[in-house]
Amino acid sequence: MDKLLEVKDLKVSFFTHAGEVKAVGGISYEINHGEIMGIVGESGSGKSVEAYTIIGLLQSPGKVVGGEILFDGENVLEYTPEQMEDFRGNKVSMIFQNPMTCLNPVYSIGNQLSEAILCHQKVEKKEAWDKSIEMLKLVGINNPEKRMKQYPHELSGGMRQRVMIAMGLICDPKLLIADEPTTALDVTIQAQILELIKKLQEERKMSVIFITHNLGVVAEVCDKVSVMYAGKIVEQGSVDDIFYNPSHPYTLGLMRSMPRVDAEEYERLIPIEGNPVDMLNPPEGCGFGARCEYCMNICLRKEPPTIDLGNGHRSSCWLLASKQKEEA
Ligand code: SF4
Repeated sequence: MDKLLEVKDLKVSFFTHAGEVKAVGGISYEINHGEIMGIVGESGSGKSVEAYTIIGLLQSPGKVVGGEILFDGENVLEYTPEQMEDFRGNKVSMIFQNPMTCLNPVYSIGNQLSEAILCHQKVEKKEAWDKSIEMLKLVGINNPEKRMKQYPHELSGGMRQRVMIAMGLICDPKLLIADEPTTALDVTIQAQILELIKKLQEERKMSVIFITHNLGVVAEVCDKVSVMYAGKIVEQGSVDDIFYNPSHPYTLGLMRSMPRVDAEEYERLIPIEGNPVDMLNPPEGCGFGARCEYCMNICLRKEPPTIDLGNGHRSSCWLLASKQKEEA
């Protein structure tokens, strides 16, 4: 498979009055054409910041301080504002967690959808309107002609999320970034939306970055996974690697805190003790050290190396480094 997106040692910081917050501390990954990658991690782990950086929506005081984002071989970070405008919408688009805050309450659904087409493509208004109706049909909205004239507050939460997906796909992007697109929905609608994204991705051979804190969602839709903690990718691999052979203590902790269908009747879920890292004053060494049951002296002094476990499965932990040394 060909590479579509290559993120190389990306570093993003926020320069606040209190000091520098290293929100993304040097992450690297690749996504091939037609692949779905999940990015998991708790709030504040940097997963949304890196997605906003890819799409050029990083706001001040945020700044890229290092690395490259290669899309089809071109470094997106070197794009002019005009190139970025063309890139955003035509090649990559994003769907957000809460459609109510993303859709404009004073414009009809039809106005907002056709505006998205008119901004990026040279077409007549009538053509944009018709294409918007087609798109609403495609995402499973009944009576689309009527919905085009309605306003966001007149639609249900599930319908608004479908409109957001329609808006994300309307210019036929090669990459869709879905930032927690089902978090605000109830479980039945969540399942329908996941199925819809998967179906559209297969039909359009699109690549998707699926940002979530829900491992169940990852298992259902993704091909591969990057687990983020404190601005770093601590483990990455295929869905099977992460679910059946997790190697990083943080990933293991996430697994133990998740309900399982094959669990014993009264099996307790085990939370990850402790609090997330204060990103203004990150600790020396491994960011997970203060919460890790396997923490060793070296973990508190030096950053762990990334260990290649084969077939794209990588994990950053001293535990694996010492195991590898013992085996050698
Ligand atoms: Fe735990 Fe050390 Fe591995 Fe960090 S490097 S996850 S502290 S064992």
